Amino acid sequence: MSVATFFDSMDYGPAPEADGEARAWLARHEARFGHFIDGRFVAPAAGAHLDTAEPATGKTLARIAKGDTADIDAAVKAARAAQGPWAKLGGPARARHLYALARMIQRHGRLLAVLEAIDNGKPIRETRDLDVPLAARHFYHHAGWAQLQEREFADQQPVGVVGQIIPWNFPLLMLAWKVAPALALGNTVVLKPAEFTSLTALLFAELATQAGLPAGVLNVVTGAGETGSALVEHPNVDKIAFTGSTEVGRLIREKTAGSGKSLTLELGGKSPFIVFDDADIDGAVEGVVDAIWFNQGQVCCAGSRLLVQEGIAETFYARLKRRMASLRVGAPLDKAIDMGAIVAPVQLERIKSLVATGVAEGAALYQPQIGLPEGGCFYPPTLMTGVHPAATVATEEIFGPVLVAMTFRTPDEAVMLANNTRYGLAASVWSETIGLALDIAPKLQAGVVWVNATNLFDAGVGFGGYRESGFGREGGREGAYEYLKPKAWAARLPRAASDVPALQVVPGGMETPAIDRTAKLFVGGKQARPDGNYSRPVIGPTGRLVGEVGEGNRKDIRNAVAAARGAEAWSRATAHNRAQILYYLGENLSARAAEFAGRIAGMTGQSKGKAAAEVEASIARLFAYGAWADKFEGTVHTPPLRGLALAVHEPIGVAGVVCPDEAPLLAFVSLVAPLVAMGNRVVVVPSERHPLAATDFYQVLETSDVPAGVVNIVTGARDGLTRTLAEHEDVDALWVFGSREASALAERLSVGNLKRTLVDHGLATDWRNPAAAEGPILLRHAVQVKNIWIPYGE
Ligand code: NAD
Repeated sequence: MSVATFFDSMDYGPAPEADGEARAWLARHEARFGHFIDGRFVAPAAGAHLDTAEPATGKTLARIAKGDTADIDAAVKAARAAQGPWAKLGGPARARHLYALARMIQRHGRLLAVLEAIDNGKPIRETRDLDVPLAARHFYHHAGWAQLQEREFADQQPVGVVGQIIPWNFPLLMLAWKVAPALALGNTVVLKPAEFTSLTALLFAELATQAGLPAGVLNVVTGAGETGSALVEHPNVDKIAFTGSTEVGRLIREKTAGSGKSLTLELGGKSPFIVFDDADIDGAVEGVVDAIWFNQGQVCCAGSRLLVQEGIAETFYARLKRRMASLRVGAPLDKAIDMGAIVAPVQLERIKSLVATGVAEGAALYQPQIGLPEGGCFYPPTLMTGVHPAATVATEEIFGPVLVAMTFRTPDEAVMLANNTRYGLAASVWSETIGLALDIAPKLQAGVVWVNATNLFDAGVGFGGYRESGFGREGGREGAYEYLKPKAWAARLPRAASDVPALQVVPGGMETPAIDRTAKLFVGGKQARPDGNYSRPVIGPTGRLVGEVGEGNRKDIRNAVAAARGAEAWSRATAHNRAQILYYLGENLSARAAEFAGRIAGMTGQSKGKAAAEVEASIARLFAYGAWADKFEGTVHTPPLRGLALAVHEPIGVAGVVCPDEAPLLAFVSLVAPLVAMGNRVVVVPSERHPLAATDFYQVLETSDVPAGVVNIVTGARDGLTRTLAEHEDVDALWVFGSREASALAERLSVGNLKRTLVDHGLATDWRNPAAAEGPILLRHAVQVKNIWIPYGE
């Protein structure tokens, strides 16, 4: 045999990783597990169990407890009892625990990696080299935040007891992403792993207790959707952090609406992988392999939509197909395979059926002729070309090793196609022209953008979605805030109900009346008559009519949203420009301070002195946001790679704002100014009871160079207008300050496009106190962080 033929016929031999220790751990537990509550395994209250299988063989691996409301209740009680003492330990002591957990993961790294590969079906190469080291890195990084908490988050306190629900695709890593920040910052946890992959969470909890983690700090309750649902509904849970499908995320948004629970949602994606014709083609082909065949494509941020510039499409597809033919699908414990098994038969069926739909809708299918192991849930790497942007496979998340490809001609078309999705988790841009790549990155609606790279993660760099990929971030400083709440809001009390006096009709005298000035709405930079042509009375403190304002309706809100949408240039205006305009607003309000004070006093019955103080505070607030506009900036991360990640603060888009009745000018300014300072456009519903300070503000807006459509004001009945704003699919964020009911309504109805909501649940804010009503406390809600990863070097 010649050397050449020898090389040609050479194949990989099996290189299996030993699984003895993992099997011995299972055997020690007789492959049957209870929940892990208050530092020990306990049998499920109802005695029910579920089977969990090994995806590569289909064989039952273990039986896990099926949690019900009694189990969840026991876990929440344990977490509640532990939370006070855990928070009181203080950051530096908690840092030691987190550090011990990081070391513990490293010490047991091989056991965790093997168990994960067996339970999930993913290759040992990935669990060993990515899942486990990154999980350890999360605990190290967050040990650091615990250490620094008292200094870096001095104005914040822990949220309390956190319910965390995670999916099956990165069972240990998702645990780390959730548990590390929660524990570091003084919360305790009830974790519900995915029903297919609960074993590493149970092992982790057991090892953590051995490593000295106090009982009750981390509890694991296993089970399927009903168990998760019981956790979501438990009244004594302060926050839900969920990672999973958009469909379940929506259900959770609805169920937690009005409950006061804080919520973060890390949901699905359909992320674009954009290749320009000047890209390093071989590099980009390897990038695709990592983007869509890593973890069998069961990755929320998988680059599942390939967008290739037309001129290189044929070459690119040819090289990609050649590379696909060399991928190896096999047993997860084989160290030389590229792809393992799909997690479960139901997921395999879903992939097959979506691919069949793709073919029926006209896509061309390519699957290399490579062997798949017998039995088990295996699926080959798959490429679909000639896919129409509206095709099912181009819009639905497949969550499997299936890449759909489309072509584009110009950069603008690439951006349009990339953003043609309801999701916004991640994007990958490939071009050797740095100027082009960095021009495209800000235009992509996604929480993470990788330049000439894909699937880079780090504990110090936030991860999370735009649009229907959810809200909240994991990792980094922004991720830490998700497990904290402002101390200045902790003492808020429910607003006292105020009765509106009955309208007293008092006949006028014979003097010359003031010229009638009926306030209209303010839409697209112009005063506009309300669509219904009705007015509503504004009744003063003694029951006298102090004015009339337009009765806005659905149509008016829609017009205002359209105007705000059209003012998109504001989101691209420079921060310096926005700052100048905020200062100018302050200056022009100051010029009319006496008039506004008179108006507030007349409307509310406050003393002239108090009203004047409210106007002064409003002017100061506008100046404060003029100052913040070019200072509440992102940051540059230096993750462990040769490169940078730029955490950029981007505006959310169009925000609805519903104002409370108290402090009618100051609350209005306090809510509008941070949003506008960060480049959002707003549709504001002013105080229902005292709207005239806001309608007088039109003239301040008109004289301060605020571009048309940036601030739109619709007066009227708060609850009805809140409902319309919450249901409107073109409103990206909604802030509701006022009643408890309006807050609940806003959260519940925002589920359509998963708006970012900020509501006060009827608790009154002290608007005069800058710690409670000014600066980062609100600015953080006015931006979404995009992390742009820029590796460099050869
Ligand atoms: P899933 O939504 O079906 O399940 C996720 C978790 O929620 C599981 O633990 C499940 O038991 C639980 N659950 C199911 N129904 C529930 C209910 N009604 N109430 C409470 N909990 C419930 O998702 P999946 O199929 O396990 O995971 C795949 C999805 O997860 C994909 O859409 C993927 O994109 C997404 N994902 C997102 C991220 C991210 O960070 N954005 C990361 C990984 C996975």
